[in-house]
Amino acid sequence: MQAGIDDEDDEARADASGQMRLPATLAGEGPLPASAEIVIVGGGVMGLAMAYHLAKRGLTDVVVIERGYLAEGASGRNGGGVRQQWSTEINIRLMQESVELCRRFAVDLGVNVWFRQGGYLFLARSEREVARLAKNIDLQNRCGVATRMLDPREALGIVPELDITGVVGAAYNPSDGILFPWPFLWGYARQAAALGVKLFMQTPVGSIDAEPAGGYTLRTPRGAIRARRVINACGAWSPKLAQMIGVEVPTYPIRHEICSSEPLKPFLRPMVSELASGLYCSQSMRGEIVGGVTIPGHASTYSMGSTLEFLATYARRLTRLMPILGDVKILRQWAGPYDQSPDGNPILGAPAGHPDFFLACGFVGHGFMMAPIIGKLYAEWLTGDAPHDIFGRSQLARFFDGSGAGLAKEDFNIG
Ligand SMILES: Cc1cc2nc3c(=O)[nH]c(=O)nc-3n(C[C@H](O)[C@H](O)[C@H](O)COP(=O)(O)OP(=O)(O)OC[C@H]3O[C@@H](n4cnc5c(N)ncnc54)[C@H](O)[C@@H]3O)c2cc1C
Repeated sequence: MQAGIDDEDDEARADASGQMRLPATLAGEGPLPASAEIVIVGGGVMGLAMAYHLAKRGLTDVVVIERGYLAEGASGRNGGGVRQQWSTEINIRLMQESVELCRRFAVDLGVNVWFRQGGYLFLARSEREVARLAKNIDLQNRCGVATRMLDPREALGIVPELDITGVVGAAYNPSDGILFPWPFLWGYARQAAALGVKLFMQTPVGSIDAEPAGGYTLRTPRGAIRARRVINACGAWSPKLAQMIGVEVPTYPIRHEICSSEPLKPFLRPMVSELASGLYCSQSMRGEIVGGVTIPGHASTYSMGSTLEFLATYARRLTRLMPILGDVKILRQWAGPYDQSPDGNPILGAPAGHPDFFLACGFVGHGFMMAPIIGKLYAEWLTGDAPHDIFGRSQLARFFDGSGAGLAKEDFNIG
């Protein structure tokens, strides 16, 4: 057992109603401290992963400020998919490391995150899509990921409930998986707090002043705090925070809807995803079928409302693919913001003129699976190691200096 787990075990364990309670130390009672070496704004998975890894590396003078509650943003609303099937080497390799961190999470952080490696099965309905999968598989195999191409009959061997009419081929990697997002946040938050990080919920940052002598003053209803360095981990709200110091971040929120069914007996091992429609579904450890579908043409919005259009589209596509699900009841429907960057790649590092203000945004629909490794790499950099390649390639400047992206275009940016 690591330090902190035993002490707070009782408080963090599910109470009689089955709800997980956070330890009182995470409530962040009282005013903010006057200053901190690093203030992380945003208590989603990205900010919390960074806080934990910074503290683990000995940098504990860290304050996390969250305007609402843990899991308020996209981190508490996502599908929990974790895959290594990508089209660029850097994303494949990052995700190999992230999967390893997910595998170790329960041991390292003392929380069961229900990580289950049942694979990801991508279905192609045209030869063009098969060619795209084949190209990716070749690269994934060269990186050591055991993805393989399946014909429709072989796909049926993995998910016998599929209707393979019109399916031309499939890509399957057995070590991809799904997780339950919330305990990731609890695990990172609890361990970060145990190591000395201070977390404040219900504390919106309303303004930030760059100080002439360096550093920043952040103002909140709970008081002001002076930070030598600031990390903007506000997900889809990152442009608003950056705007407070006059930095333009060109990401924008896109509502992404998702739903979950009544619990069924376990039958579906992999996450199944249809390339053409963006349909995806998996079965959670509790038995629910959790899934969504791309609804094209959504305007940018912070609205988290749910629509009948989504439900009808999802139901039509899902029951075409798995007719057996026709009578299953949907119990919950919700939405969250994709933090969409113009090229689908993240924005990391410090913008020009603000060497002590760091960005971690633009992760679209895959920021949860990337957070374990990005949080670790960020902490390594901010505690003195040389920055990983991903930071040089993901700079904000690429959208303004005409140099184009340092990152190759990721063309497998789905779900
Ligand atoms: C429906 C859906 C399905 C998805 N499925 C997947 C998936 O299967 N796999 C995957 O990897 N990813 C998925 N994603 C994407 C993933 O959820 C996000 O990329 C990830 O959670 C982003 O984490 P974050 O910490 O950057 O942002 P968030 O979780 O949004 O956290 C940002 C936090 O900042 C806080 N904040 C904002 N402004 C302020 C302020 N002024 N002061 C203080 N706090 C502030 C917010 O309240 C919020 O809690 C999905 C997203 C959605 C919406």
